[in-house]
Amino acid sequence: MSARLPIAALLAAALALPATAQPLPPRPGATRNIAAACAGRDGWADPAPPARIFGNTYYVGTCGITALLVQTQAGLVLLDGGVPEAAPLVLANIRKLGFSPRAIRWILVSHEHYDHAGALAEIQRESGARVAAGPFQAQALGTGQPDPGDPQYPMLAKHSMAPLRIEKTMLNYGRLTVGGIDFTPAATPAHSPGSTSWTWRDCQGIECRTIAYADSATVISAESYRFSDNPKRIAAVHTGLGAIATLPCDILITPHPSASNLFDRMSGVKPLVQAGACRAYALAAAKRFDERLASENATALPPK
Ligand SMILES: [Zn+2]
Repeated sequence: MSARLPIAALLAAALALPATAQPLPPRPGATRNIAAACAGRDGWADPAPPARIFGNTYYVGTCGITALLVQTQAGLVLLDGGVPEAAPLVLANIRKLGFSPRAIRWILVSHEHYDHAGALAEIQRESGARVAAGPFQAQALGTGQPDPGDPQYPMLAKHSMAPLRIEKTMLNYGRLTVGGIDFTPAATPAHSPGSTSWTWRDCQGIECRTIAYADSATVISAESYRFSDNPKRIAAVHTGLGAIATLPCDILITPHPSASNLFDRMSGVKPLVQAGACRAYALAAAKRFDERLASENATALPPK
């Protein structure tokens, strides 16, 4: 009689799952239908319940702004925290999942604006977590002052942000490994100078996927700013959108959940895994940026 392996074991062997691929037990308190919970509400400080996205990756943000929690074998990693008022909501969501904020080992950031990083000082105080930041985010995050070179500067300067204690500046954009999960940053400076996208592998059962937390791709500015007068910024936008388009990307997540239809995808209304999602997201943003440049040129003063 030949020994017969269960099909799951055969598949796992065929896929050569890493030791960390074993999913940790599902958490209590996570909703399955965040789309219904946030229906009609997309405010940046509108409370949302915590929800599992995939494997060990959870949504702990508000109805309008994403915060992600990844459970690893060596503690938690939090990506973004939302506006300052969202700090207690994010901390409450972490607790609802049965975790202690003290178990957060690292905090990572998409970009250095108050609507995504404003809550992090309070969360860092509460958790004692360390912050790893890209070189162009570290200055703004460490001082709480926006970067004067940011096209949105005058708008950002109206919103204060408590400074973070930066433990690690990822000068060469090396990855951060926590509990066997590699969090790989990519400089994607389209939306802001410090814009960073993060990818990691996560597994749910025997299914393993690359999650891409692709930063905001909208290219906006203060009213008086003209990209046409700032060729370096135009080049950075193109570099950033090109980098987003080529991210490894089975599951796209964005700092504004609506930008990737995240809640419908998490709630099963639309597919969570979408081939080419990062590419489509970046191409749509590139098209909008081309239109912006064209409208700047159309309103340019005629030469004397
Ligand atoms: Zn922003």
